[in-house]
Amino acid sequence: MNRCVACDKTDQDVPLISVSFRGSTFSICPQHLPILIHDPKMLAGKLPGAEDMNPAEHRD
Ligand SMILES: [Zn+2]
Repeated sequence: MNRCVACDKTDQDVPLISVSFRGSTFSICPQHLPILIHDPKMLAGKLPGAEDMNPAEHRD
């Protein structure tokens, strides 16, 4: 079952967005999508390689 990589909610609880990264696919919910955009390093340890991702430079 797909789970949000940040909060572990399933697609029974929230809509999940599928993202592919380095040949694997993970899911994230809309609530945590901003983490992926602005603070991807927060996902280090949950998402392999997240520590190498760079946040978007534009913050709004
Ligand atoms: Zn989430």
